[in-house]
Amino acid sequence: AVKSRVSAGANIRVVVRVRPQNAKETGENFRTVVKVSDEQMLMFDPEEDSTPFFYHGVQQKGRDLLKKPHKNMKFLFDRVFPPIANNEEVFVHSTKDLIETLMDGCNCSVFVYGATGAGKTHTMLGHNGAPGITYLTMRELFHQKQELTTERDFELAVSYLEVYNENVQDLLQPKGSPLHLREDSKLGVMVAGITLKRIENPEDLFELLEKGNKNRTQHPTDANAESSRSHAVFQVYIRMKVKQTGQTRLAKLSMIDLAGSERGAATGCKGARFTEGANINKSLLALGNCINSLADGQRHVPYRDSKLTRLLKDSLGGNCHTVMIANVSPSSMSFEDTYNTLKYATRAKKI
Ligand code: ADP
Ligand code: MG
Repeated sequence: AVKSRVSAGANIRVVVRVRPQNAKETGENFRTVVKVSDEQMLMFDPEEDSTPFFYHGVQQKGRDLLKKPHKNMKFLFDRVFPPIANNEEVFVHSTKDLIETLMDGCNCSVFVYGATGAGKTHTMLGHNGAPGITYLTMRELFHQKQELTTERDFELAVSYLEVYNENVQDLLQPKGSPLHLREDSKLGVMVAGITLKRIENPEDLFELLEKGNKNRTQHPTDANAESSRSHAVFQVYIRMKVKQTGQTRLAKLSMIDLAGSERGAATGCKGARFTEGANINKSLLALGNCINSLADGQRHVPYRDSKLTRLLKDSLGGNCHTVMIANVSPSSMSFEDTYNTLKYATRAKKI
């Protein structure tokens, strides 16, 4: 039976990961605007240690003297990861616990949110030698599956798709036209015609994800050549059969590398790219509104407002558990993006 949770609100865990500064950001025109205070608190735009207004008699460069600073803003989350934290640490304190929930038959979802360059893909996929939370979470799944193997039969399949311009595309076997969503009373939300791949061990994932990522829609923009405008959705479907009773349970884990959250205007996109931006904002906005409604305990959750939220309707709210990982740069170079990300993440918290 499904474990019933006593908490009335949604099961949402919101964590923030601050990535290390890169070479560009260590330049003298930038400063650190995110300071991790402890495991649950960070300070945005911290007051510099009594930096004089005029430094050596010269007005400091790049300082907007008229702008009212919102200094020393404290933000609290379920967990805050400092730049030195690695993917393993992020995994242990964000998605590891989801696997038990999943084995109880509850759907789970993981979102990696943030502006382009904030560290989403590093968190989700990682790289050689430092695999991301997708692999680490799947490794935990296989581990727990192994432990249950005497009492249950398992069937496991994965899919990998992207939501681009409010269209769903199969990343494992690209089709000519977008795929459609179906709602099945038993199976939940289904993507008609999606490729389901069986995997035997977590190592199988590397090849599969790499292959899928080659099929992602990536349009370089002026602002960032690596910018990704699509949401990448990795899903694991588990069918469990209790050997003794024959009872079957279905559960689904969804892990989503969201499109960059930066404003379209800031990337200087025009024409076709502008529509992309508008649609991406639509999905991110809808996701924010859904999570916010759930965190607030509201009855109406606006799932229908975007493709992404329709796709994840059976994985958000109810008995489902959700983890939101907000990624930020520590540098003043991304001041506005970081502030917006922290605000978005704060809205997702249970009140
Ligand atoms: P996003 O997917 O949000 O656009 P990326 O994950 O691609 O951002 O990160 C941008 C760059 O910063 C990449 O070169 C990545 O390797 C690096 N990076 C991000 N997070 C970290 C981290 N925690 N430690 C080391 N490098 C990181
Ligand atoms: Mg990325």
